Amino acid sequence: MKIGFIGVGNMGGPMARNLVSAGHAVTVFDLDPAHVASVTQAGAKGADSAAAAVAGADAVVTMLPAGPHVRDVYENAVLPNAKAGAVLIDCSTIDVETARAVADLAVSKGFAMVDAPVSGGVGGAEAGTLTFMVGGPDEAFGAAKPVLEKMGKTIVHCGGAGNGQAAKICNNMMLGIQMISVAEAFVLAEKLGLDHQKLFDVSSKASGQCWSLTTYCPVPGPVPTSPANRDYQPGFASAMMVKDLKLSQGAAETFQAKTALGQRAMEMYQQFTDSGNGGVDFSGIIKMVRDG
Ligand code: NAD
Repeated sequence: MKIGFIGVGNMGGPMARNLVSAGHAVTVFDLDPAHVASVTQAGAKGADSAAAAVAGADAVVTMLPAGPHVRDVYENAVLPNAKAGAVLIDCSTIDVETARAVADLAVSKGFAMVDAPVSGGVGGAEAGTLTFMVGGPDEAFGAAKPVLEKMGKTIVHCGGAGNGQAAKICNNMMLGIQMISVAEAFVLAEKLGLDHQKLFDVSSKASGQCWSLTTYCPVPGPVPTSPANRDYQPGFASAMMVKDLKLSQGAAETFQAKTALGQRAMEMYQQFTDSGNGGVDFSGIIKMVRDG
């Protein structure tokens, strides 16, 4: 299969390399030539524009920073140049409204399109074990699935256009809130003279159990692979958490959902990021919780 891939940064680079390894003919474009080179070295072809990358492709994958980039690339490069019958797959994390607007445009030009944001980070992209949350009609999902399977392990069809993005922001809102709750519990335990490991031993088997505790524990010790054991090197950077919580709060406002803890979590990660911690893993928020 011929695949055009636009946006080969931290995530898109390894994803495109996995498509090459699976035997696809992949043509890539990125504004940064060094990112293009990191994939052409693995056997992809480089294009000198997004339009050239999509021309003749059976599938187009985009992995771009945010909604405005996706809209721009689709309006100016993908939709005018993709061949009839190509399936369009946007894996970027963007706002639900832009995802639905771009999907409507694609459908109006006769294309099958899905939004397919991911969970799993750079490690998951490299290992080909990403989770894809997919929004779009059944037929588009069916066409996209064989491509997604080369880059991920779990692929969930979440409903119509934009529902992949909806699942992503709802999940990450839970994650952001839960990490703060775990951090607050450990800080309270410290004040009460309760050992970190003892709290972990109880809560990892009790009703406080969650991923932020058992996989990503924000204190060093109980989970040796968590970022707390390497001075909070990401992992998942706080700036990325702020991006995702802004998306969930934007959606909550537009669609009139009351998400008071999501709002508070967004403010706390924003404050943490503003004080020079944007590149620190989001579990590092425990330092701010501890310092009050
Ligand atoms: P990145 O900045 O490393 O990569 C984005 C790439 O897009 C860059 O190489 C940039 O040069 C390129 N780009 C921007 N505008 C372009 C344009 N008009 N045409 C061509 N290329 C263009 O970011 P990333 O970490 O790879 O993240 C990509 C997306 O994946 C984001 O939406 C992010 O929220 C999401 N995401 C990231 C992670 C992660 O851990 N990094 C995890 C899950 C989801």
